Amino acid sequence: MKQLADFPRIPLGILPTPLYKLENISHIYGKNIYIKRDDLTGVALGGNKVRKLEFLLADAKEKGADTVLTTGGAQSNHAMLTAACANRLGMKAILVLKKRGIWERKGNQLLNAILGADVRFVDTDRYENVYAEMAVIMEGLEKEGHRAYSIPVGGSVPLGSLGYVRCAKEIFEQAEGMGFSVNHILCCTGSGGTHAGMALGAKLFSPETVVTGVAVDDDPFEEIVPRLMRETAALLERTLFLADSDVNLKYMVGSGYAIPSPEGNAAIRLMAKEEGLILDPVYTGKAFAGFLALLQEGYFEEDANIVFLHSGGAGGLFAMDMA
Ligand SMILES: *Cc1c(COP(=O)(O)O)cnc(C)c1O
Repeated sequence: MKQLADFPRIPLGILPTPLYKLENISHIYGKNIYIKRDDLTGVALGGNKVRKLEFLLADAKEKGADTVLTTGGAQSNHAMLTAACANRLGMKAILVLKKRGIWERKGNQLLNAILGADVRFVDTDRYENVYAEMAVIMEGLEKEGHRAYSIPVGGSVPLGSLGYVRCAKEIFEQAEGMGFSVNHILCCTGSGGTHAGMALGAKLFSPETVVTGVAVDDDPFEEIVPRLMRETAALLERTLFLADSDVNLKYMVGSGYAIPSPEGNAAIRLMAKEEGLILDPVYTGKAFAGFLALLQEGYFEEDANIVFLHSGGAGGLFAMDMA
């Protein structure tokens, strides 16, 4: 069996990120609600992708890569953070993005421009077209004598998920230090890597903890998340026996991925009003709305200690208006 420490990792983030109780929201709902501040991971505007990139870019470096390619939507936080982390490591970043939504120089596109990332748009709705384009770019780079490393959308591959296995461990250690046990962890499920890593981390380090992902996209996460959990467990040389209760999902997509929803926007306002914290309309706002819906449905036990993951998203916030 392998341990997390057996995998190359470049410490890019400022970790551990803070974990503390949301006093006002806990009081309103009569529950112990904590927040894990992964919006403060410390590169660019922060966010969850930094933890994945610690492992992915260590692998890239180890393979001698001088260029890193990745993809996402036009307002991808993941792509922007890949560019930021690549800059720090002296690597070139090529962002092959879907030309959809707000692709003008706003939000993460403004940050990409500041970071000097090489942004290329593909006018398509399908990632298979984007990956085909990435393969062509990779081939060209190799011919020029470069070595390129390709990261799939969201960094949601087993190596990336290790970042969230590590985060789960970090949460349990912090909670223990603070004198409470974590009954629930709530996170956002966008491409699945965060959820899979967190759920696997819970299985390994705190089996009583229930991990629930709030899906902000319509993909079949009931298949994607357990598959990624198994693959990540395989990386750690462990066989995983999954029960249905190990993968919990609540869909909170609204009218579509990256389209702000009334529930999400209300949740953003609640967090801002009560706790002075800013969520985003694409990921964390909808995730928090899903959490509030679960609270209303009586999903959590009396006296439950619940940790909500703030996974970032500030870059996209300034690309859109929030009516
Ligand atoms: C990417 C992202 C997520 C979703 O994480 P996945 O690992 O892709 O499921 C959540 N919040 C923010 C802010 C993100 O950028």
